[in-house]
Amino acid sequence: MKHYSIAIDGPAGAGKSTIAKKVAKHLNFIYVDTGAMYRALALYFIRNNIASADKEKIESSCNDADVTIDYRDGEQQVLLNDENVTQLIRTEEVGNMASASSVYPVVRLKLVELQRNLAKKADVVMDGREIGTFVLPGADLKIYLTASSMERAKRRFLELKQRGITADINEIEKDIIERDNRDMNREFAPLKQADDAILLDSSDMTIDEVAEYIIKCYEQIR
Ligand code: C5P
Repeated sequence: MKHYSIAIDGPAGAGKSTIAKKVAKHLNFIYVDTGAMYRALALYFIRNNIASADKEKIESSCNDADVTIDYRDGEQQVLLNDENVTQLIRTEEVGNMASASSVYPVVRLKLVELQRNLAKKADVVMDGREIGTFVLPGADLKIYLTASSMERAKRRFLELKQRGITADINEIEKDIIERDNRDMNREFAPLKQADDAILLDSSDMTIDEVAEYIIKCYEQIR
């Protein structure tokens, strides 16, 4: 039986996860948040005092960290060595570690295998950085979702504010630009738009507009 896949790639804070979740819900697909997998591994490195620059330790400890995915009420849960860490991986510290440790091919290949296996078993909307170029090059629909760095910083600022965290918007933008650079310039499977991906700049679009657009694109190819 054929399983359909929609790949949504783009830089940090472009709204990929919110939109991917909506699209998945509408189409009755499974939403796969690949960033959460990198974050779970990052949490393992932080807990074990492994520095992101310590390539050898990162590589050797990768085998000790088992990352698996489960679904509860339709929501993706990330398990790290059987512990549900879904709520623990949303901090800036974990995000920064995920960004720095995801440059290593060993880290990436471990998680890519898990991602490809999920897509073999179900219809998926998968978001990440290189889903359309590397993880699922044969995806039925590929979207490259972006927005200006200031717009993305603004969104993250509001998200943090809602959670009661005050932050400096300029610092957030600086951080976002740094992450973009790291994602786009890493040697192995960098962030880039696939040749056959549809480019969507969401700077002036609402979440619903973007989700509706993607659903329409999907209906055209199905
Ligand atoms: O998307 P999210 O911010 O949760 O991802 C955390 C980090 O994991 C990103 O900054 C990115 O460097 C990395 N990542 C990646 N490839 C993916 C998903 C995330 O390199 N497919």
